[in-house]
Amino acid sequence: AERPSVRHPLRILALANQKGGVGKTTTAINLGTALAAIGEDVLVLDLDPQGNASTGLGIDRARRQVSTYDVMTGEASLAEAVIPTAVPRLSIAPSTMDLLGLEMELATLPDRAHRLRGVLKDIAQAKGLERISYVLIDCPPSLNLLTINALAAADAVLVPLQCEFFALEGLSQLLRTVEQVRGALNPKLTIQGIVLTMFDPRNNLSAQVVADVRGFMGDKVYETVIPRNVRISEAPSHGKPALLYDLKCAGSQAYLRLASEVIQREGRVPAAA
Ligand code: ADP
Ligand code: MG
Repeated sequence: AERPSVRHPLRILALANQKGGVGKTTTAINLGTALAAIGEDVLVLDLDPQGNASTGLGIDRARRQVSTYDVMTGEASLAEAVIPTAVPRLSIAPSTMDLLGLEMELATLPDRAHRLRGVLKDIAQAKGLERISYVLIDCPPSLNLLTINALAAADAVLVPLQCEFFALEGLSQLLRTVEQVRGALNPKLTIQGIVLTMFDPRNNLSAQVVADVRGFMGDKVYETVIPRNVRISEAPSHGKPALLYDLKCAGSQAYLRLASEVIQREGRVPAAA
Protein backbone atom coordinates (compact mmCIF):
# COMPACT_ATOMS: atom_id res chain seq x y z
CA ALA A 1 0.00 0.00 0.00
CA GLU A 2 1.05 3.58 -0.63
CA ARG A 3 2.72 5.21 2.34
CA PRO A 4 1.21 8.42 3.68
CA SER A 5 3.23 11.61 3.37
CA VAL A 6 5.04 12.58 6.55
CA ARG A 7 4.74 16.37 6.35
CA HIS A 8 8.13 17.25 7.73
CA PRO A 9 9.26 20.88 7.62
CA LEU A 10 11.12 21.97 4.52
CA ARG A 11 14.81 21.22 4.16
CA ILE A 12 16.91 22.48 1.27
CA LEU A 13 19.97 20.43 0.32
CA ALA A 14 22.47 21.48 -2.34
CA LEU A 15 24.26 18.66 -4.16
CA ALA A 16 27.54 20.30 -4.94
CA ASN A 17 30.98 19.45 -6.22
CA GLN A 18 32.80 21.55 -8.80
CA LYS A 19 34.04 18.40 -10.52
CA GLY A 20 31.89 16.91 -13.25
CA GLY A 21 31.03 13.24 -13.37
CA VAL A 22 31.19 12.57 -9.62
CA GLY A 23 27.55 11.58 -9.16
CA LYS A 24 25.72 14.83 -8.29
CA THR A 25 22.89 14.30 -10.75
CA THR A 26 22.67 10.56 -10.14
CA THR A 27 22.42 11.27 -6.42
CA ALA A 28 19.81 14.02 -6.90
CA ILE A 29 17.61 11.63 -8.90
CA ASN A 30 18.06 8.51 -6.82
CA LEU A 31 18.29 10.00 -3.35
CA GLY A 32 15.23 12.04 -4.31
CA THR A 33 13.39 8.90 -5.38
CA ALA A 34 14.47 7.04 -2.24
CA LEU A 35 13.33 9.91 0.02
CA ALA A 36 9.99 9.97 -1.79
CA ALA A 37 9.70 6.21 -1.29
CA ILE A 38 10.00 6.63 2.46
CA GLY A 39 7.33 9.29 2.63
CA GLU A 40 9.02 12.63 1.97
CA ASP A 41 7.70 15.06 -0.65
CA VAL A 42 10.70 15.89 -2.80
CA LEU A 43 11.45 18.54 -5.39
CA VAL A 44 14.58 18.14 -7.50
CA LEU A 45 15.60 21.60 -8.67
CA ASP A 46 17.81 21.37 -11.75
CA LEU A 47 20.36 24.16 -11.66
CA ASP A 48 22.70 22.68 -14.27
CA PRO A 49 22.35 24.05 -17.83
CA GLN A 50 23.05 20.49 -19.06
CA GLY A 51 19.68 19.46 -17.67
CA ASN A 52 20.73 15.89 -16.93
CA ALA A 53 18.47 15.60 -13.89
CA SER A 54 15.52 16.70 -16.03
CA THR A 55 16.37 14.19 -18.78
CA GLY A 56 17.06 11.42 -16.28
CA LEU A 57 13.63 11.94 -14.76
CA GLY A 58 12.00 11.61 -18.16
CA ILE A 59 11.26 15.27 -18.85
CA ASP A 60 12.15 15.85 -22.51
CA ARG A 61 13.02 19.31 -23.78
CA ALA A 62 9.59 19.97 -25.25
CA ARG A 63 8.11 19.81 -21.75
CA ARG A 64 10.45 22.45 -20.30
CA GLN A 65 8.41 25.51 -21.29
CA VAL A 66 9.01 26.99 -17.87
CA SER A 67 12.46 26.32 -16.45
CA THR A 68 14.64 27.24 -13.50
CA TYR A 69 16.05 30.00 -15.70
CA ASP A 70 12.63 31.68 -15.87
CA VAL A 71 12.28 31.26 -12.13
CA MET A 72 15.72 32.72 -11.38
CA THR A 73 15.07 35.75 -13.58
CA GLY A 74 11.68 36.29 -11.94
CA GLU A 75 9.74 35.73 -15.16
CA ALA A 76 7.87 32.78 -13.66
CA SER A 77 7.02 31.44 -10.24
CA LEU A 78 8.56 28.21 -8.99
CA ALA A 79 5.13 26.56 -8.95
CA GLU A 80 4.81 27.25 -12.69
CA ALA A 81 8.06 25.38 -13.39
CA VAL A 82 7.40 22.29 -11.29
CA ILE A 83 6.42 19.10 -13.14
CA PRO A 84 5.40 15.80 -11.53
CA THR A 85 7.49 12.70 -12.37
CA ALA A 86 6.63 9.02 -12.66
CA VAL A 87 7.61 8.67 -8.99
CA PRO A 88 4.82 9.53 -6.52
CA ARG A 89 5.78 12.53 -4.32
CA LEU A 90 8.78 13.40 -6.56
CA SER A 91 8.64 16.46 -8.78
CA ILE A 92 11.21 18.43 -10.76
CA ALA A 93 11.86 22.01 -11.71
CA PRO A 94 13.66 21.44 -15.04
CA SER A 95 16.53 23.40 -16.51
CA THR A 96 17.43 24.49 -20.01
CA MET A 97 20.59 25.81 -21.68
CA ASP A 98 19.24 29.32 -20.99
CA LEU A 99 20.92 29.00 -17.59
CA LEU A 100 24.29 29.42 -19.34
CA GLY A 101 23.51 33.10 -19.84
CA LEU A 102 22.17 33.76 -16.38
CA GLU A 103 25.48 34.67 -14.76
CA MET A 104 26.01 37.54 -17.22
CA GLU A 105 22.42 38.69 -16.91
CA LEU A 106 22.54 38.79 -13.13
CA ALA A 107 26.04 40.29 -12.93
CA THR A 108 24.97 43.83 -12.08
CA LEU A 109 22.09 42.97 -9.75
CA PRO A 110 22.81 43.51 -6.06
CA ASP A 111 20.87 40.36 -5.09
CA ARG A 112 22.55 38.15 -7.68
CA ALA A 113 23.74 35.59 -5.12
CA HIS A 114 20.35 35.48 -3.37
CA ARG A 115 18.04 34.91 -6.32
CA LEU A 116 17.39 31.28 -5.48
CA ARG A 117 16.93 31.99 -1.81
CA GLY A 118 14.25 34.50 -2.79
CA VAL A 119 12.60 31.87 -4.99
CA LEU A 120 12.52 29.23 -2.24
CA LYS A 121 11.58 31.57 0.59
CA ASP A 122 7.81 31.26 0.15
CA ILE A 123 7.64 27.65 -0.95
CA ALA A 124 5.68 26.56 2.14
CA GLN A 125 2.91 29.00 1.14
CA ALA A 126 3.04 28.41 -2.63
CA LYS A 127 -0.01 26.71 -4.07
CA GLY A 128 0.81 23.11 -4.95
CA LEU A 129 4.20 23.17 -3.22
CA GLU A 130 3.10 23.33 0.44
CA ARG A 131 3.80 19.67 1.07
CA ILE A 132 7.39 19.64 -0.14
CA SER A 133 9.74 18.52 2.63
CA TYR A 134 12.98 18.29 0.65
CA VAL A 135 14.38 20.40 -2.13
CA LEU A 136 17.45 18.79 -3.70
CA ILE A 137 19.37 21.28 -5.82
CA ASP A 138 21.42 19.66 -8.58
CA CYS A 139 24.35 22.05 -9.06
CA PRO A 140 26.49 22.50 -12.17
CA PRO A 141 30.11 21.24 -12.15
CA SER A 142 31.57 24.61 -11.26
CA LEU A 143 31.79 27.00 -8.32
CA ASN A 144 30.01 29.65 -10.39
CA LEU A 145 27.16 31.99 -9.51
CA LEU A 146 24.60 29.18 -9.91
CA THR A 147 26.33 27.05 -7.29
CA ILE A 148 26.77 30.10 -5.06
CA ASN A 149 23.01 30.71 -5.32
CA ALA A 150 22.40 27.09 -4.33
CA LEU A 151 24.73 27.34 -1.31
CA ALA A 152 23.20 30.66 -0.29
CA ALA A 153 19.69 29.15 -0.40
CA ALA A 154 20.46 25.77 1.20
CA ASP A 155 20.23 24.55 4.78
CA ALA A 156 23.01 22.08 4.08
CA VAL A 157 25.35 20.75 1.41
CA LEU A 158 25.56 17.13 0.38
CA VAL A 159 28.81 16.39 -1.41
CA PRO A 160 29.10 13.43 -3.78
CA LEU A 161 32.70 12.34 -4.06
CA GLN A 162 33.87 9.82 -6.60
CA CYS A 163 36.22 7.10 -5.33
CA GLU A 164 39.15 8.19 -7.46
CA PHE A 165 42.67 9.45 -6.89
CA PHE A 166 42.04 13.22 -6.88
CA ALA A 167 38.90 13.09 -4.73
CA LEU A 168 40.35 14.89 -1.71
CA GLU A 169 42.04 17.61 -3.70
CA GLY A 170 38.75 18.90 -5.06
CA LEU A 171 37.10 18.55 -1.67
CA SER A 172 39.38 21.08 0.06
CA GLN A 173 38.50 23.74 -2.48
CA LEU A 174 34.80 23.01 -2.11
CA LEU A 175 35.02 23.19 1.68
CA ARG A 176 36.71 26.59 1.43
CA THR A 177 33.87 27.84 -0.75
CA VAL A 178 31.31 26.52 1.74
CA GLU A 179 33.17 28.42 4.50
CA GLN A 180 33.13 31.59 2.44
CA VAL A 181 29.43 31.33 1.67
CA ARG A 182 28.70 30.65 5.34
CA GLY A 183 30.66 33.73 6.34
CA ALA A 184 29.31 36.11 3.73
CA LEU A 185 25.87 34.91 2.62
CA ASN A 186 24.35 32.10 4.66
CA PRO A 187 25.46 31.64 8.31
CA LYS A 188 23.21 28.59 8.85
CA LEU A 189 24.81 26.54 6.07
CA THR A 190 26.09 23.15 7.25
CA ILE A 191 27.50 20.06 5.59
CA GLN A 192 24.87 17.32 5.68
CA GLY A 193 27.41 14.77 4.59
CA ILE A 194 29.80 13.40 2.04
CA VAL A 195 28.72 10.45 -0.04
CA LEU A 196 31.33 8.29 -1.72
CA THR A 197 30.18 7.18 -5.15
CA MET A 198 31.16 4.70 -7.85
CA PHE A 199 32.97 2.45 -5.41
CA ASP A 200 34.61 -0.48 -7.14
CA PRO A 201 35.40 -3.36 -4.74
CA ARG A 202 37.88 -4.90 -7.21
CA ASN A 203 39.95 -1.74 -7.27
CA ASN A 204 42.38 -1.21 -4.36
CA LEU A 205 42.42 2.50 -5.08
CA SER A 206 38.69 2.74 -4.36
CA ALA A 207 39.19 1.28 -0.87
CA GLN A 208 42.16 3.59 -0.27
CA VAL A 209 40.10 6.64 -1.22
CA VAL A 210 37.33 5.59 1.16
CA ALA A 211 39.87 5.24 3.98
CA ASP A 212 41.52 8.60 3.16
CA VAL A 213 38.25 10.52 2.98
CA ARG A 214 37.02 8.97 6.22
CA GLY A 215 40.35 9.86 7.85
CA PHE A 216 40.07 13.45 6.68
CA MET A 217 36.34 14.07 7.20
CA GLY A 218 35.44 11.56 9.93
CA ASP A 219 31.75 11.02 10.54
CA LYS A 220 30.76 13.65 7.98
CA VAL A 221 31.12 10.74 5.55
CA TYR A 222 27.97 8.62 5.26
CA GLU A 223 28.38 4.96 6.14
CA THR A 224 26.63 4.11 2.91
CA VAL A 225 28.98 3.94 -0.05
CA ILE A 226 27.38 3.91 -3.51
CA PRO A 227 28.86 1.09 -5.61
CA ARG A 228 29.67 1.44 -9.28
CA ASN A 229 26.71 -0.28 -10.84
CA VAL A 230 25.80 -0.63 -14.49
CA ARG A 231 22.05 -0.44 -13.77
CA ILE A 232 22.56 3.04 -12.31
CA SER A 233 24.28 4.25 -15.46
CA GLU A 234 21.66 2.65 -17.74
CA ALA A 235 18.60 4.07 -16.00
CA PRO A 236 18.84 7.72 -17.23
CA SER A 237 18.66 6.67 -20.88
CA HIS A 238 15.26 5.18 -20.04
CA GLY A 239 14.20 8.44 -18.39
CA LYS A 240 13.83 6.66 -15.07
CA PRO A 241 15.51 6.71 -11.67
CA ALA A 242 17.48 3.52 -11.00
CA LEU A 243 15.01 2.75 -8.23
CA LEU A 244 12.23 2.44 -10.82
CA TYR A 245 14.41 0.79 -13.46
CA ASP A 246 15.78 -1.91 -11.14
CA LEU A 247 14.88 -1.59 -7.48
CA LYS A 248 16.82 -4.71 -6.51
CA CYS A 249 20.18 -3.70 -7.97
CA ALA A 250 22.98 -2.88 -5.54
CA GLY A 251 22.96 0.79 -6.55
CA SER A 252 19.25 1.30 -5.84
CA GLN A 253 19.57 -0.45 -2.50
CA ALA A 254 22.51 1.77 -1.59
CA TYR A 255 20.49 4.91 -2.35
CA LEU A 256 17.69 3.65 -0.09
CA ARG A 257 20.20 3.25 2.74
CA LEU A 258 21.59 6.71 2.03
CA ALA A 259 18.09 8.19 2.28
CA SER A 260 17.68 6.66 5.75
CA GLU A 261 20.99 8.14 6.85
CA VAL A 262 20.08 11.55 5.47
CA ILE A 263 16.80 11.73 7.37
CA GLN A 264 18.37 10.25 10.51
CA ARG A 265 20.95 13.03 10.52
CA GLU A 266 18.07 15.47 10.68
CA GLY A 267 16.36 13.66 13.49
CA ARG A 268 13.45 12.63 11.29
CA VAL A 269 11.70 9.29 11.26
CA PRO A 270 10.23 7.81 8.10
CA ALA A 271 6.47 7.47 7.75
CA ALA A 272 5.14 4.16 9.09
CA ALA A 273 4.74 1.50 6.41
P1 ADP B 1 27.68 14.76 -12.12
O1 ADP B 1 26.27 15.20 -12.03
O2 ADP B 1 28.47 15.00 -10.87
O3 ADP B 1 28.38 15.33 -13.33
P2 ADP B 1 26.59 12.19 -12.83
O4 ADP B 1 25.64 11.85 -11.75
O5 ADP B 1 26.01 12.70 -14.10
O6 ADP B 1 27.71 13.17 -12.31
O7 ADP B 1 27.45 10.88 -13.12
C1 ADP B 1 28.44 10.87 -14.14
C2 ADP B 1 28.32 9.58 -14.95
O8 ADP B 1 28.57 8.46 -14.10
C3 ADP B 1 26.93 9.37 -15.51
O9 ADP B 1 27.04 8.77 -16.78
C4 ADP B 1 26.28 8.41 -14.53
O10 ADP B 1 25.31 7.60 -15.15
C5 ADP B 1 27.46 7.59 -14.07
N1 ADP B 1 27.30 7.12 -12.70
C6 ADP B 1 27.03 7.87 -11.60
N2 ADP B 1 26.96 7.11 -10.50
C7 ADP B 1 27.19 5.83 -10.91
C8 ADP B 1 27.27 4.56 -10.24
N3 ADP B 1 27.09 4.44 -8.92
N4 ADP B 1 27.52 3.48 -10.98
C9 ADP B 1 27.71 3.57 -12.33
N5 ADP B 1 27.67 4.73 -13.00
C10 ADP B 1 27.41 5.84 -12.32
MG1 MG C 1 25.26 16.65 -13.19
